[in-house]
Amino acid sequence: MNALGVYIHVPFCLSKCPYCDFYSVNFTAELLDKYMESLRQEIKKWSDAVKSDSQNLRIVDTVYFGGGTPNLLGVKKIAEVLNLIKMDFTLADDVEITLEVNPTKFGKIDFARLKEAGVNRLSVGMQSANDKELKLLGRTHNKQATEYTVKDAQRAGFENISLDLMVCTPGQTKASLLKSIDFCEKLKIQHISAYLLKLEKGTEYYLNKDKLDLKDENTQSEIYLFVCEELEKRGFHQYEISNFSTPNSQSKHNLKYWNAEEYIGIGPSAHSFLNGKRFFYANSLNEFINNPKTIDDGLGGDIKEYAMLQLRLSDGLRNTRFYEKFGVNIPQRYFHRAKLYEKYNLVKVSKDGFHLTKKGNLVSNSLIYKIIYDE
Ligand code: SF4
Repeated sequence: MNALGVYIHVPFCLSKCPYCDFYSVNFTAELLDKYMESLRQEIKKWSDAVKSDSQNLRIVDTVYFGGGTPNLLGVKKIAEVLNLIKMDFTLADDVEITLEVNPTKFGKIDFARLKEAGVNRLSVGMQSANDKELKLLGRTHNKQATEYTVKDAQRAGFENISLDLMVCTPGQTKASLLKSIDFCEKLKIQHISAYLLKLEKGTEYYLNKDKLDLKDENTQSEIYLFVCEELEKRGFHQYEISNFSTPNSQSKHNLKYWNAEEYIGIGPSAHSFLNGKRFFYANSLNEFINNPKTIDDGLGGDIKEYAMLQLRLSDGLRNTRFYEKFGVNIPQRYFHRAKLYEKYNLVKVSKDGFHLTKKGNLVSNSLIYKIIYDE
């Protein structure tokens, strides 16, 4: 039986951060109601589609509310969506249910009721614990709001909390980054997603890139390695290029993406991988409200795609898992190419497979492509 993930995209934000290219629109109560109406129907539609495949009973073992700013739904609507999912799908006993939340004032989010509704993991959009950096990132919260949010959630009994940390942001120094890392450690959270700031086309940052105080490539590499080392020192084990966790607190939902496992994404811009096919909703709330339909994105999960995704994991591509999935060994040509890069300390090869080194992670996209696709 193949377990399934469910992703709900909540496309609302209170304002647009200048670096962000995730799909979101300004929050209004009217749009939220219309979105909810469509969401209810689409959840039902997908549960019917999954149930109609009687050969293949699917249990949902992860649910993830991402955005946008999912906490803008409010506890009542989050509970309602979760109830629909519970009624329409079969959920695993140990289902992981994650909610992305933005740091907010003390008491603003009712964490006790969220917990009661079934949410058992939080991903908090901290980005930095330095108020000046947060301002430059266009964020509306401050360090104190992150502290309130995390402590409030912990008091309500949340024991699986992740913080986002942005690396190489304007004005950031190694010293200020270290303070942000210390802040995370003091909050006794379980998981950190540490992302290098990327200039995404179409964002305000991209348009104004010449005016921003950005780091050159060498400095970025040095800082990335510094962050990896500092997080490891504090007991956060790196399990993916940008993700670090304490023991047994890896994100089960995000691991699905890198393990090429299947999931249904519902909401504007949400992607799915179901029965070997990839498809997605357009980046349009209007379309999701008025005519929700998905767009085909071809077949997924073949050997090459699987190998590329696995190489994002610290564990890398392992023959045991590969054989279990495809009934053949990892192609020898992958090993040959991986060995070429081992000389430069970009890849580490063993008998059972290979993985990128931390240095390799810095050039992961081109390196993975060369190992899998070069002739
Ligand atoms: S970073 Fe988060 S809060 Fe800011 S615009 Fe993007 S989705 Fe919204």
